[in-house]
Amino acid sequence: MNQIPERLARVRERMRAAAVAGGRAPDSVTLLAVSKTKPASDILAAYRAGQRAFGENYLQDALPKIQALRGNDIEWHFIGRLQSNKTAEISRHFAWVHSLDSLKHAQRLSAQRPADMPPLQVCVQVNLSGELSKGGVERADLAELAAAVARLPGLRLRGLMTMPDPGSDPAAQRAVFAALRKLFEELRAAGLDLDTLSMGMSADMEAAIAEGSTMVRIGADIFGART
Ligand SMILES: *Cc1c(COP(=O)(O)O)cnc(C)c1O
Repeated sequence: MNQIPERLARVRERMRAAAVAGGRAPDSVTLLAVSKTKPASDILAAYRAGQRAFGENYLQDALPKIQALRGNDIEWHFIGRLQSNKTAEISRHFAWVHSLDSLKHAQRLSAQRPADMPPLQVCVQVNLSGELSKGGVERADLAELAAAVARLPGLRLRGLMTMPDPGSDPAAQRAVFAALRKLFEELRAAGLDLDTLSMGMSADMEAAIAEGSTMVRIGADIFGART
């Protein structure tokens, strides 16, 4: 039994309702369907229901699905932790990276992006929870990294991404999203041409949209819980 089209429709409806509740246009938020650990058949079910952007965390898990679905009009987003030995493949197979948090990885992705492809679109991930185990650049280092990334020819800096601590309450989620939005506005005021706030997952999508998210990354609420 495949409930993906119904779940997808429900997520899209929640996104519209949250946007309208925040005084924004109903279609002002983009949906990234996070398909990590799920089979290509699930991605195809969402694709047939109109979904085009899919997010993956693990290169080895993603590559066979990207191969299997070649020929479809899918935009692949890499949202997992970056490792130096994976940047070449990521730069070849993805349209976006949301989890950029070091200049070293940025330089590798830029240099390795094939010349016949458009620049790789990237968001810098910011660690606003203070947890050292988590990915993301520290707030104090963001402006310098963003400026350097914006100058790399193989990349196009689109915006910022963050994740609140899992299980944090709605007020804490909103505080993290509001902080990311403030950093985003500061970078724009400093002259960077950014248009993307990648924030909001299944558990905190409404809080993220209330704070200005332009792209939510939704996995479980579309594809079901991961085992
Ligand atoms: C898994 C994941 C998501 C989706 O989370 P859900 O709770 O399944 O909606 C979004 N963003 C990142 C970076 C993830 O790793």
